[in-house]
Amino acid sequence: MKVTKFGGSSVADATQLRKVLAIIQADSERRFIIVSAPGKRNKNDIKVTDLLIDYANAFLEKRDTRSFELAIIARFNEISEALNLSKALPEIAVYITNLKQTTLTSTPRIMDLFKSSGENCHAMLIAEFLTSQGTPAVYVNPKDAGLIVEDIPGDAIIKKESYQAIYNLRKLTKVAVIPGFFGYTDEGNICTFSRGGSDVTGAIISAGIKADIYENFTDVDAIYSANPGLIPNCHAIKELTFSEMRELSYSGFTVLHDEALMPAYQGNIPVVIKNTNNPDAPGTRISFKRSTKEESVVGIAGDSGFTSIYLSKYLMNRQIGFGYSVLKILKELNLQFEHIPSGIDDMTIIMRKNQLNEAIEEQLITRLRTELDLDELVVKHDISMIALVGEGMRNNIGVASRATSALSRNNINLEMISQGSSEVSILFAISDAKEKDAIKALYYEFFCLA
Ligand code: ASP
Repeated sequence: MKVTKFGGSSVADATQLRKVLAIIQADSERRFIIVSAPGKRNKNDIKVTDLLIDYANAFLEKRDTRSFELAIIARFNEISEALNLSKALPEIAVYITNLKQTTLTSTPRIMDLFKSSGENCHAMLIAEFLTSQGTPAVYVNPKDAGLIVEDIPGDAIIKKESYQAIYNLRKLTKVAVIPGFFGYTDEGNICTFSRGGSDVTGAIISAGIKADIYENFTDVDAIYSANPGLIPNCHAIKELTFSEMRELSYSGFTVLHDEALMPAYQGNIPVVIKNTNNPDAPGTRISFKRSTKEESVVGIAGDSGFTSIYLSKYLMNRQIGFGYSVLKILKELNLQFEHIPSGIDDMTIIMRKNQLNEAIEEQLITRLRTELDLDELVVKHDISMIALVGEGMRNNIGVASRATSALSRNNINLEMISQGSSEVSILFAISDAKEKDAIKALYYEFFCLA
């Protein structure tokens, strides 16, 4: 059995949905279909989820919502008409119009209710479409599927008990069309995953039904070794391990949601990324072990918007509890750190800049300075983290040396280097302004100079 997820651009309009139909009909194992809300039809288009967020904001601010309702219904109407469908649309129009009658009072809950309806309505429409084309299909609401989540609006986390319930979906005789992106809390409220979260639903359903494979259809032929927008003719990756994919998506690869791998990883379900517009391309397979030869570096990712805080204190290494005090301050200010590489007498905190405003930064700096009695503290904003990823690094000597030489030849100053003991990645902190140059230099070194 296969779980097959189609992202927003794959279900953006009737033309795309005809491709989706052909893909589903080409393989009878494709019995669990997870769908996103209609995405962008072209570069300047607006995703239905974004229209729903605008609608929710207008409702919350007591502004006129009509234009948003009409724009959203028009998207579904256009698809329904082009595919000669008639059943689901009236229900969808009522559903969208009635969102503003909600009795919910909490803003995040209202937001989640609105946001989830793009996927919810589209799943109804797609189930009707498949059925009309000779593939009997049924819309399955996530609550009926047993998809119960922790109550964190906009950032839901699956509850372990869900998997047992989801297993029962195997009994369905028709193709199940399940809306991605949300589940229900124990109290019965809709709760969405973070943006792009239909990938997460697909992984959860795959693990729950113990699928043979989780197919994730998107709009690229494969995952590439670096951003193909930056590197023309970029090398397509055939196979990746879960750890490599996790490192790459954490460090800026956006093809797959950062949290989508966990359920697949835990359930040992291989994931394959494929292209709806070119389904014959082999795509990229992600699993525990590669069958191909271990390359030392499989991908290079970059992500900007970090801040580094350098702390130094003579004889820091002798002071018991120094690290603990740093972490305590971060925790008390509710700040997340990404990396804390350290030396004998110094330590650097790398964190996402978007958590800081002027007041919080001031508080953090003052507390670090006074409570830790530092010799020096230097804050640098606009830092990029570049990740060189590959399990094969473990068995290849000299990867870090090649990388640092390539960066130095290109006049790129390193603020920090960090390699975890798992040796799946090496991270370099550099100035934002040099991010593109660094990725190009590393790509050239590891993929062009064989
Ligand atoms: N429609 C949602 C979003 O745009 C979820 C998804 O497409 O995966 O974030």
